[in-house]
Amino acid sequence: DKPQIGVIGMAVMGKNLALNIESRGYTVAIYNRTGSKTEAVAKEHSDKKLVPSYTIEDFVASLEKPRRIMMMVKAGAGTDAVIKQLLPLLDKGDVLIDGGNTFFKDTMRRNAELDKSGINFIGMGVSGGELGALEGPSLMPGGQKEAYDLVAPILEQIAAKADDGTPCVTYIGANGAGHYVKMVHNGIEYGDMELIAEVYNILRQVLGFSVEEIADIFKEWDEGELQSYLVEITADILTRKDDLGTGKPVVDVILDAAGNKGTGKWSSQEALEVGVPQSLITEAVYARYISALKDERVTASKVLHGPEPKLAAGVDKKALVEEIRQALYFSKIMSYAQGFEQMLAAAKHYDWELDFGKIAAIWREGCIIRAQFLQKITSAYDQKADLQNLLLDPYFTNIAEKYQAAVRDVVALAVKNGVPAPGLSAAINYYDSYRAEVLPANLTQAQRDYFGAHTYLRNDREGVFHYTWYEEQ
Ligand code: NDP
Repeated sequence: DKPQIGVIGMAVMGKNLALNIESRGYTVAIYNRTGSKTEAVAKEHSDKKLVPSYTIEDFVASLEKPRRIMMMVKAGAGTDAVIKQLLPLLDKGDVLIDGGNTFFKDTMRRNAELDKSGINFIGMGVSGGELGALEGPSLMPGGQKEAYDLVAPILEQIAAKADDGTPCVTYIGANGAGHYVKMVHNGIEYGDMELIAEVYNILRQVLGFSVEEIADIFKEWDEGELQSYLVEITADILTRKDDLGTGKPVVDVILDAAGNKGTGKWSSQEALEVGVPQSLITEAVYARYISALKDERVTASKVLHGPEPKLAAGVDKKALVEEIRQALYFSKIMSYAQGFEQMLAAAKHYDWELDFGKIAAIWREGCIIRAQFLQKITSAYDQKADLQNLLLDPYFTNIAEKYQAAVRDVVALAVKNGVPAPGLSAAINYYDSYRAEVLPANLTQAQRDYFGAHTYLRNDREGVFHYTWYEEQ
């Protein structure tokens, strides 16, 4: 039978997604710019229903109509190049899916361009790395709804399944909505990773625990509210010894300079664009940037001094570990509250109808930020679909109330000991700003009016005011 779907791009992601689709009973056409890769995949899996093509024309001609094509190629110029080749070969009603890590504005542009030719274009966020692609990723597709319906049965089969059996895929919204949500997912991932790193550092530098002891702490945390893939792998990482035989924990031989592929940065830039606070993710991006200035930091460390981290005598370490756990959970909640408020602002800005409960639900499995905790977010939106901010949901209000004292202690401890905690600090500062009935922005407005005659509103009467700060010369 003719392939029901085709995959373009036989690097690790495309190959694994093709195999995943094939394993659900489909015949899958495969194509890659460099033919030897297609051939290698076809050879390695000759027992499977994979139909290789070596020209894009043959590939398109091999497919059942309306054609369903998934691109898994290098985002940016690669995606544009493939679309350009495909365009003359496709017919009205065909569905083209871009599963790459594409910037959502590129997806909006491509969706509008292809729509003129009647071709449906779905921009789909794929999370879960190569293993996720093979065994079940979390999928965030956006584009024409009718086009989604044509591919939904396949996507539902290949996606990860949550504990209750629901597939981790849902129609996100029009044009670039899927890639937008994937971008925020990646930003949240940066935030989660940064908070874990800060907490590890405090446990190590201030409380003086060994790497093995910290592994045990994370293992225990993974049994409770903090249960998540990232906490689980942190515990695992901390048990591992250097594979080059130095006998040291592997974390101690890894250079402390974090890389990034730009998706966290996009998320922060977009928060600035739509005008919502995204301090936690942004601090996480900055933390990677400052870590990357390794040589500069080494030089500065010889010149700029701070306190020696030290725990006061008689401190109850066990109680402090519990406070640190609470600080981590509290801060994680602040990060998600910011991320979801960003998506709410984006939905208004770009005219998307986003279902936040469903978005949280499809992140429960398959993706890097997968965690039990996401169910709480889904429940919050089930209770109130138009929730303005997660912190206003009773569950989250209650946790924030109960855990805030711990965060204050832990941030103060970090600052006093000279151990950086930008993510944890951003979390408590966001909480205190968000819950403040009055902020000192009145002074800011006075200054703006003073030097720039920018005017101000009053809190006691209608109208626009300007104060005569000085006599005109
Ligand atoms: P890469 O991002 O390394 O991209 C390599 C693939 O793109 C190859 O098939 C390559 O073909 C093709 N390609 C590059 N430029 C062109 C071009 N101008 N014309 C045609 N084909 C081109 O592969 P990955 O498998 O890692 O990722 C695929 C996509 O999935 C990317 O957008 C990535 O961001 C995204 N993604 C990756 C994840 C991961 O964990 N790796 C997770 C989620 C998404 P050739 O062999 O001929 O060079």
